[in-house]
Formats: sequence, structure tokens, C-alpha cells
Amino acid sequence: MSSAGLSPLGALALARGTVDRVTKRRTDKDWIEAAWKDPRSRVLVVCEGQALVREDRDRVELVLVPPEQAPSGTRFLLGQDAGEVVYFGVSGPLPAGPEADERHAADGIRKATLREVGALLPDRDAGLLTHAVALANWHDTHTHCPLCGSATVPDPGGHSTYCPVDGSEHFPRTDPAVIMLVTDPQDRCLLARNAAWPGRRVSILAGFVEPGESAEQAVIREVAEETGITVTNVRYLGSQPWPMPRSLMLGFRADAPAGQDIAVDHEELAEAHWFSRGDLLAALERRELGLPPSVSIARHIIEAWYGGPLPSAWTVPPPPPR
Ligand SMILES: [Zn+2]
Repeated sequence: MSSAGLSPLGALALARGTVDRVTKRRTDKDWIEAAWKDPRSRVLVVCEGQALVREDRDRVELVLVPPEQAPSGTRFLLGQDAGEVVYFGVSGPLPAGPEADERHAADGIRKATLREVGALLPDRDAGLLTHAVALANWHDTHTHCPLCGSATVPDPGGHSTYCPVDGSEHFPRTDPAVIMLVTDPQDRCLLARNAAWPGRRVSILAGFVEPGESAEQAVIREVAEETGITVTNVRYLGSQPWPMPRSLMLGFRADAPAGQDIAVDHEELAEAHWFSRGDLLAALERRELGLPPSVSIARHIIEAWYGGPLPSAWTVPPPPPR
């Protein structure tokens, strides 16, 4: 179930995975308890968006522990692989303190976020960490019933909660966001610098889908709000989860008809410009601009338009002297 080829953007870092989610098992308390007692089962511990990874030369992998070594915390079923190993996540404390740090450093183990290692992990681990971070973020921030305020109780698989007072059921939230590459009739691409980003980082435009709005409507609205450009021919490219804390990024392309001036909103954006392929490559090679990292769908969309890999990531020197 590797996801290479699922979208024209190729294998997106956080849209990979090899573990079957076994959704039908989530309500099977006996099966879940038996799996939790099975020493072959493996647990991924997540704490405030971080997990332990082991680095050995250029190989990075998750540190998974047997259930008996997992800390207490909210538990959820992640799935089962082709070898019938069952995977759980636990939102709970990572081993801490000088002794643990020393032992881990000797073994090449460190704490890492999904953003840091999402593109470096193998398919199985990228899928497990993305799934676990998304569920842990939801459990950590949705502890009470929105109807009556009582503390909710997770179901056996940890993919929903219920309210013991009024019986209402609650499911994990995902916020849809659109991210879009806009081109003009010369096939130049619109790149913008967010006012909150340091240095000269640029990316394509993005924004959240509002209630009662389609993704395509959100593309048109966000581009107009942020740059004053009217776009047509909005078409879908692919998606990847971005559970920091709970987004699903929906990638699009759109066309900007000729004869329009960019009018940056100066609230979200500091600047926006059209770039030909040659302009962009030259600016990156001169290190005047930086692009988003390869863990992001933005990077894949920009490189799909460019026609190949581009140099640089977010790591850009300070802005040029004025
Ligand atoms: Zn309630």
C-alpha cells in the first residue's frame, strides 16, 4: 500500500505507508486487548508532536517499543502489517532525564518532529508517525464533550470518543486547506513571501477552506484576497496530511489570465512576484531565495511545474543588504 504513483505529484512524504489501518478492529475490544498483550506488537510513543528516532549513517527510523515498555497515556490502534505485527500509538511521556539522554545519544537515538524527519523515514515509519501525530494532537486537545462539557472516553481503538453523560460520539477533526500554484500566460509561477517567515523564504499561496465552501472556491478566494489576482481553470493535483496540528493539504493549479497586476494584501504576505523557470533557478543558485522543504506538498508542486528537482530548502542566509 505504498503510495508512490497515487498522485501526479509522486510519492509525497507524508502520504506514504505500508500498515493496514484495520478499521474493522477498532471496536473489537477483545482483539485489541489480545494484541496489546502480544510481545510482538509495537508501540510508537508520541509526546507533543515528538517521537524517538534512531539515526545510523544516512538511515533514520522510528524507535518502536513492545507494549510492556510503553508509558501510560492515551492509546490508539494504528494498524497491522503484512507480517501480522500490530502497531499502537500512545500519547504519553518520552523517556526523559540525563540518564535517558546519555543512553540514547550512545545509541544514536534522539527526539524528532514529523516536520524534521517525515521525508527521511521509510514508507512504513512515515505512515505510522503521520497517523500517530494526527491522533495524538486530537486526543490532547479534545478531552471534553462539546455538547455538555463532560470528560469524554476514548473507544477501544482510540479513533473516536464518547460522552458518558449524553452518549454523543466524537470523531477526529481534520481541517482542509488548499495550496495552489498559479501561472500566467507565459507559464511563470506566482511565489510569495509570508510576512511571518524569516529571511527570503518563498512558496506558493495557501489558505484554509471555510465552512460551506468548496476547495475550488477557496483557491479562487484566497488568491484574490492575498494577491488581487483572479484565477480560472482550477484543477486538483493531489493531497497530503499535515497534522501540525490537523490540516489536510489539497494541492491545485490555476491559471491567471493576462493583464492583471499583483496587489499584495500586506497582512499575510510581504511580497509576491512572477518567476520564470530561469528566474527561479538563478535566484536559488544565488541563495537570494529559499523554498519549502521536501516534506511539504508545496515543494513537490513547485518542482512538478519546474520539471525537476530544485536546489535549496528553507535554509537561507539572512536577507541581502539594502
Ligand atoms: Zn456530553
